[in-house]
Amino acid sequence: MTSMETHTTSHNENCIFCKIVAREIPAHIVYEDAGFIAFLDIHPQTPGHVQVIPKKHYRWVWDVPSDTSEPDSIGAYFAVAQKIAHAQRAIFNTEWILSKTVGDEVHHAHLWVFPSNTATGDKMDFAGNAEKLRAAITTQ
Ligand SMILES: [Zn+2]
Repeated sequence: MTSMETHTTSHNENCIFCKIVAREIPAHIVYEDAGFIAFLDIHPQTPGHVQVIPKKHYRWVWDVPSDTSEPDSIGAYFAVAQKIAHAQRAIFNTEWILSKTVGDEVHHAHLWVFPSNTATGDKMDFAGNAEKLRAAITTQ
């Protein structure tokens, strides 16, 4: 077993997700609030596959605060995931939305939220899917 890597910082300069938060590298951002940002995965499983991440650099999803008064609490995290899921349901014609947390690819907490393979749409249409998601999330 490797040692625990629990460092939490506002910004980790070697982290690709921190660079997305800081707009240092481009992403198709579909949602942003005080605690979180959501953007399209560059290797989508299905149309509209989104990554939801805390803006602060937490190593694991389970490292975000449990204190609900924090803008990036675990409760707020799941509420963002629900907004995304509702938008995906409306856009991609399926009520079956999956979420998954693994955490090995990028060492910054991230939650996958993506429609099942019953969804309709073109998963490689990043600009179109991002635009539809942004519109659907704001009108909720
Ligand atoms: Zn990071």
